[in-house]
Amino acid sequence: MNTVLVYLEGNGTTLKRTSFECITAARSLGTPTIVGVIVNGSSEQAAAAGAYGLSSVININHPSLASFDSGVAAAAIASVATEQGASTVLFAANAIGKEVAPRVAVRMQAGLLPDCVELSGSANAVEAVRPVYAGKARVRVRSTTSVTIATLRPNVFTARPADASAAVTVTNWSGSLPDLRSAAVVNVQRNEGVLDVAEADIVVSGGRGLKGPENFHLVEALARSLGGAVGASRAVVDAGWRPHREQVGQTGKTVSPNMYVACGISGAVQHLAGMSSSRFIVAVNKDKDAPIFKIADYGIVGDVFEVLPKLTERIAKVTGRS
Ligand SMILES: Cc1cc2nc3c(=O)[nH]c(=O)nc-3n(C[C@H](O)[C@H](O)[C@H](O)COP(=O)(O)OP(=O)(O)OC[C@H]3O[C@@H](n4cnc5c(N)ncnc54)[C@H](O)[C@@H]3O)c2cc1C
Repeated sequence: MNTVLVYLEGNGTTLKRTSFECITAARSLGTPTIVGVIVNGSSEQAAAAGAYGLSSVININHPSLASFDSGVAAAAIASVATEQGASTVLFAANAIGKEVAPRVAVRMQAGLLPDCVELSGSANAVEAVRPVYAGKARVRVRSTTSVTIATLRPNVFTARPADASAAVTVTNWSGSLPDLRSAAVVNVQRNEGVLDVAEADIVVSGGRGLKGPENFHLVEALARSLGGAVGASRAVVDAGWRPHREQVGQTGKTVSPNMYVACGISGAVQHLAGMSSSRFIVAVNKDKDAPIFKIADYGIVGDVFEVLPKLTERIAKVTGRS
């Protein structure tokens, strides 16, 4: 068995970047056969995977998954993984991956390596590095089961197109599924146009230094000028200034954007747990001894009420976004 199954997640007519990251990471596991699996996918999405070296995609288009259900999806993906003889199954460590991967692991009696930031070895003997203790330490782990399920932290693995683009064969999965749904979806309300912090390339987060919800327009304006998402510390979410979906940290979302801008955030260890793997960290804080400066690549010691409007104005001139 030298096959890696990669879960592909749709994003309109293409795939989420995390899917390309997972395919690229799969390519580094020796020279495995890589198979994609997608729920309710399209031929455009399968073609997009071809640029990253995937040549076959199994499309699960089943009536039980007309509205996505993690338990049902896990049952289908586990069946596909078994049919394909996959020894490794990769997911992004995002909302869907965190819900589905453990369920697949239970169904396949497989070892689960969650939230990996490095992957090595081969499809038959995967080794991974993952942060533990809220990011204070990293452990190297190896699954000892014949099948390994791993979730990869978004934005940590670089998505690299393959040298040659492959023509992708799409097979519609026709297996049967038990009705596992314990709840029916009555209504789906989408947050159209709101960029999710966990998937954004740039995140601008605000903390208690903003003094009140009425001042968050400063953080929003900076995020807009950079084309990024707005995040928040738990202190401001608990205070009801911002919605929980924006919370970054141990009890919020884990983010790994290319750039993380922390505005008026002290840098408590629980906040760092959710953003310390960001590629570049910029901090704006009026206290030069604030812990956030210990991990920041660039720091501005200053008042957010003075610094943010100036930064936004300068950046908007360059990016043309305001
Ligand atoms: C079990 C547990 C889980 C937790 N999970 C999370 C989590 O997921 N995410 C999270 O964020 N926190 C979490 N916390 C809370 C965490 O410990 C901190 O309390 C929180 O992160 C602090 O938020 P803050 O930095 O916005 O506020 P503060 O710690 O109050 O920091 C405000 C900062 O703003 C600066 N400042 C003030 N005025 C200005 C100004 N005008 N200009 C510039 N800077 C200014 C100050 O110097 C200070 O550094 C958790 C705590 C526990 C116990």
